Amino acid sequence: MPIEVKPRIVVLYGSQKGQAQSIAEGIAEEAEGHGLLAELSCLDQKDKYNLEKEKSPVVFIVSTTGDGEPPDNALQFVKQIKKKAHTSDHYKHLHYALLALGDTNYENFCNCGKTIERRLQELGAQKFYATGYADDGTGLEVVVDPWLEGLWKAVKAALTKMASDRSFKEDSGQTISDSSIPDVQLNLLSLTNHQPPDLDPKFASTGSHVSSPFVEGVILTTPPAEIQNADPGISNAPSLSQSVPPLSDLSLNVPSLPPPFLDVSLQEGDTVDELFGPLNSETLNEVPVSRAVCLTTGESVKTAILIELDVTAYPMLTYQPGDSFDVFCPNRGSEVNQLLRRLGLEDQKNHHVQVSLLENTKKKGAQVPSFIPQNISLLYLLTWCLEIRSVPKKAFLRALAEHTADSGQRRRLQELCSKQGSADYNRFVRESSVSILELLDAFPSCSPPFSIFIEHLPKLQPRPYSAASSRLQHPGKLNFVFSVVEFPPCSGRPVGRRGLCTGWLFDLVAPLLVHPGKAESQCHVAAPRIHVSLRPNCSFRHPPDTSVPLVMVGPGTGVAPFIGFLQQREKERQRNPDAVFGETWLFFGCRYRDRDYLFREALEGFVSSGTLDHLKVCFSRDNRREEEDVVSGGPPRYVQHNLLLYSHKIINILLKHSGCLYVCGDAKNMAKDVNDTLMEMIKSELQADQLEAMKRLAGLREEKRYLKDIWG
Ligand code: FAD
Ligand code: NAP
Repeated sequence: MPIEVKPRIVVLYGSQKGQAQSIAEGIAEEAEGHGLLAELSCLDQKDKYNLEKEKSPVVFIVSTTGDGEPPDNALQFVKQIKKKAHTSDHYKHLHYALLALGDTNYENFCNCGKTIERRLQELGAQKFYATGYADDGTGLEVVVDPWLEGLWKAVKAALTKMASDRSFKEDSGQTISDSSIPDVQLNLLSLTNHQPPDLDPKFASTGSHVSSPFVEGVILTTPPAEIQNADPGISNAPSLSQSVPPLSDLSLNVPSLPPPFLDVSLQEGDTVDELFGPLNSETLNEVPVSRAVCLTTGESVKTAILIELDVTAYPMLTYQPGDSFDVFCPNRGSEVNQLLRRLGLEDQKNHHVQVSLLENTKKKGAQVPSFIPQNISLLYLLTWCLEIRSVPKKAFLRALAEHTADSGQRRRLQELCSKQGSADYNRFVRESSVSILELLDAFPSCSPPFSIFIEHLPKLQPRPYSAASSRLQHPGKLNFVFSVVEFPPCSGRPVGRRGLCTGWLFDLVAPLLVHPGKAESQCHVAAPRIHVSLRPNCSFRHPPDTSVPLVMVGPGTGVAPFIGFLQQREKERQRNPDAVFGETWLFFGCRYRDRDYLFREALEGFVSSGTLDHLKVCFSRDNRREEEDVVSGGPPRYVQHNLLLYSHKIINILLKHSGCLYVCGDAKNMAKDVNDTLMEMIKSELQADQLEAMKRLAGLREEKRYLKDIWG
């Protein structure tokens, strides 16, 4: 009997927070059901794949992070593929499909995927399926689900084509040109969120074998009795846990159940986490907080706090203004305890967690998450390793549904992860940032095993903050400023809560917090300590040549790095009075002059000392009527309106005097709007068209004279 050899596909992913990875894993798992053998690798596992010789179809799933950067584990790959030395037929042999994940709330949407796509095309690779650009801003699944649905047909077509090309070549001894390969993608839709694909109604289908890899037909035409007999007194509005027609009457397509892959046991015994803090690493420093000052006052503003760290004894924390550093914060103790209680594991919190791979797991490429250390207690795991506040993904909801006894609650969880329930998922889970704990509260009959928490929760990430000081001005000190994130109450969250790190810092420094207008008193409480590590950002730094003119744009806490720049400049001016210093502009914005004008005294001091030539401040809510804006002649509201007022001077500085422009702060709205305003300024100052303006701006970026440090 001849041995049947399954056709191979290669699945490669670059993933920052695990979304691209879990999609890639899903593809690898489903491949078998389609008669294929999938080889799954991360892009940084270079020993596991070889694109230079790859003859099978390759599927790339790549995300984008920060301001258009590749995820850490795709950095080397992107660097390598961008090498100019590659010839235009370097990847002529390669057949690929690509799914790019991004977020249109940030600039450079899907930049990593687009870069890989562009280079693959430039190097002769052949695309066998239309590239998908999925937008986390509106819901990845809008593009991901149909893209996955169409993938298998495209893979099979590509395999057939490749096989027939090979036999044609072998039979005729000829080489065929790429153009003779019919382009499978011609039959496919270009899948972007901007142009939602016209979905085939088959998508909502019936368990046929060729359905989407992630979609299993689950037909529940009759809602469970609980829903049918709902108390008429109960509100008919949908909520996190309550379903209403038409959704409650629909048949659902839910993702296939993620196969369990971890074996987790809890055992009595010694653990080595008595040093209760994030895992020791060479770059981590536990530093004392020497001062904490509240920079805001009154209502209707975000509370902003300045923290001064005493880093005298920490040479590892030798920073430059513009650098940022990571703060490692634990999950909130009360939430950890609540979760332990909810899972019935309170008595075992000091037990030793043993995690290993489940024998015979069906999950392809299953691994014990690398961020789960050996010899830790359950309490440590929940406190320092897992992001228990993270918004549960649909796959997690799907897994939770399996462990929910009440049929009404199970149906609602199925709805929330289904294609039909996407809008409800976005509204009640994603946009409300519902955590797993809040979800378990809303679904009391859900009793999941602990292993699925390690399978589905991401690593607890440290939070970066920008240095707001210069060591020249404040030797041995490192200052930063943060605004306290507030999550309002919503369906599933009866009481609002603070952001994880900012809420933790707020509580930690409360005993020593100095409020505006109050004198700093001698503090008698022991200095709290926090774990930090430096993440040097070599590009967002003051230019080495002090004669270069600077334009700084930083509303809200985005002003932080510029305080460092200006402190440094002030010191340098004192040290070298004869040196040439370029013109400096700072555009700052806040809501009210007398409530959240951060660093007002310091900024006015820089102006008085001549360190800052132009300080342009706007107040977005001071005596402002709703309809007032810069066009109607009101005072400038946002930093970009002030930029427009000084358009001529700013464009001159940037384009005629080789100045540098720095933007720091919110990425979702401010940085995008500032970028659009800059385009308008260039267009009107140079009488240029859109394309020319874009080129000018791109030129500034390439010359590292338009630098951004932005986040949402
Ligand atoms: P989390 O608990 O992580 O919650 C924040 C998340 O919730 C965000 O995704 C946000 O979009 C979302 N969110 C916020 N409010 C709501 C709401 N009401 N409803 C639903 N979702 C909401 N921040 C500073 O304040 N100062 C800095 O100097 C600074 N520098 C940074 C430098 C860099 C390089 C980067 C990448 C980020 C910087 N940040 C800075 C942001 C900072 O790292 C944290 O993201 C921020 O402080 C929030 O952390 P958190 O843990 O309190 O919030
Ligand atoms: P904020 O208080 O929310 O906003 C400051 C000012 O900006 C307010 O007056 C606000 O006006 C205005 N604003 C709102 N939308 C705007 C827009 N589209 N364009 C211009 N201005 C706009 O600011 P924040 O909370 O301190 O900081 C903003 C974000 O930046 C935070 O998420 C923080 O985490 C992040 N951050 C990042 C870095 C970094 O990446 N290095 C550094 C510091 C801070 P209204 O509120 O009246 O609309």
